[in-house]
Amino acid sequence: MEEMRTHGMQNVVLSTKSLADYASVVGDEVIAELRQLAKPLQGARVLHISSTAYGGGVAEMLHTLIPLMRDAGLEAEWRIISGTDDFFAVTKSMHNALQGMDLELPPAARAAYLHANVENAVYFEDEFDYVIVHDPQPAPLRMLRAGDKGRWIWRCHIDLTAANPTYWGFLRPFVQMYDAAIFTLPSYVKHDLEIGKVAIIPPAIDPLSPKNAPMTQEEAASIIQLYGVDPKRPMLVQVSRFDPWKDPLGVIDVYRAVKREYPAMQLVMVGSMAHDDPEGMEYFQRTKEHADADPDIHLLSNLDGVGNAEVNAFQRSATVVLQKSLREGFGLTVSEGLWKGKPVIGGNVGGIPLQIEEGKTGYLVETIEQCTDRVLDILRHPERAKALADRGHEHVRQNFLSTANLRNYLRLFNELAGRPVTEQVPATCAAR
Ligand code: UDP
Repeated sequence: MEEMRTHGMQNVVLSTKSLADYASVVGDEVIAELRQLAKPLQGARVLHISSTAYGGGVAEMLHTLIPLMRDAGLEAEWRIISGTDDFFAVTKSMHNALQGMDLELPPAARAAYLHANVENAVYFEDEFDYVIVHDPQPAPLRMLRAGDKGRWIWRCHIDLTAANPTYWGFLRPFVQMYDAAIFTLPSYVKHDLEIGKVAIIPPAIDPLSPKNAPMTQEEAASIIQLYGVDPKRPMLVQVSRFDPWKDPLGVIDVYRAVKREYPAMQLVMVGSMAHDDPEGMEYFQRTKEHADADPDIHLLSNLDGVGNAEVNAFQRSATVVLQKSLREGFGLTVSEGLWKGKPVIGGNVGGIPLQIEEGKTGYLVETIEQCTDRVLDILRHPERAKALADRGHEHVRQNFLSTANLRNYLRLFNELAGRPVTEQVPATCAAR
C-alpha cells in the first residue's frame, strides 16, 4: 500500500444540516433548548480533530454533530490528521492495548506516534475557542501546541477499563494537558487521570441521515437483492468493522447453530475498511475463511459499494440485529438497530448495556451459546421480540440521538467558558 505523506491536517468537507428538521423526531422543546444553549456561543470557533473521516463510529457522529453545530451558530470545522502506514499501525495497536490487549510498546512505535503528531502540530494554523481531539491518535497535539489559546478537550471513545498500563502510562501525560476530557461512561475514567474536568457524554445516531432515515421494506428489499440476499428469508445482520473485538468468527458460529433449526437462515456481515484500521483487510480474510464458502453467508464491505443507504436497508431487513462485541466503546450499531425497530442482541460489554436493558430493550450475551439461544428465542416468539424492539426505539429516541449529543457539547462549552448550565437532564446524558 502506498504511504500517505501529506503534511499536516486535511479539512473535511461537510454537508449542511438544519436543526429545525429534527423537531419532527424529538419535539420543538428540545430544539428550543438547543438554540438557548447556543446563544452565548454564537460565532465561537470550534475545531474537531480525528484520524479518519470514514469508517467507524467517530466519523459517523462527526458528520452530523459538526453540521448541527454550524446550524446552531458556531463556526465549527473538522480536520483529519495525516500519518504514514507505520503511524496507523501503531495507533491500531494502541487502540487494541487500551482495550486490554497485552502488547509491547517498543521505542520505534513511540517514535512513529510522536513523529506523526509533531508533523501535524507544526503545520497547524488558526486559533479556535474550543478544540476537540478525538481518541488517542492525535492526543499529543495539545502538548505540542501548549501555547495555543482556547479550551482543549480530549474526547475518548474507547473503554479504558482494562487498559494496558504501559500504553496508558505513555498516553496519560498527553491527556493531562487538556482542559477537559469526555468519556462515554463514568467507569471508563482512569483513577489516576488528573484533569480539570471530566464530562460523561454517550454517543448518538442521526435519525435523519441516509443510514437511519425512514425507508420502506420494499425499498430495503430491492437494495439487498442487489447483493444476492433474499429478502423473503430470515437473516441475521451484523454491521461492524472486521476486527477481533467485534467477534465476526463467533457470529458465524451463532449463525451455524441457528441454521440447524432454521435452514432458511442467512447471515449478512457488513464491515467497512476504515483508513485508520490496517487490520481490517486481514481480519476480513480470516472471516471469509471461517465462512467456508457458505452461499448463505454474505460478507460485504464498502468495497462492494455498501454505503449508508445499503447499511440502512440491511438493518431494516434483519430478522435479528447482532452486535456480538467482546469489547465496545459504545456500539452505535446497537442504537441503529433499535432505532429501526429491530430486536437487537449485543455483547454484554462497554456501552452496549447503556442501550440494551436485558430483556427490556433487547438481549445481552456473553457466549456463542447464549447468543444462539437468544436468536432462537426471538425466532420462536416474534411478538415478544417486537415489544422489546419498540421499547428499544423509544429508549434511543430519548437518549441517543444527535440532538442529545449536541446539547451535551453545548453544555460543556458553556461550562468551560464559566457559564455552568443548571437544568436537570437525564443522568445518562449529563456532563459530570
Ligand atoms: N459502519 C458502516 N459500514 C460498515 C461498518 C460500520 O457504515 O461496513 C458504521 C456503522 O453503521 C456505525 C459505525 O460505522 O455507524 C460503527 O460504529 P460503532 O460504534 O458500532 O463501532 P466502531 O467502529 O466505532 O468501533
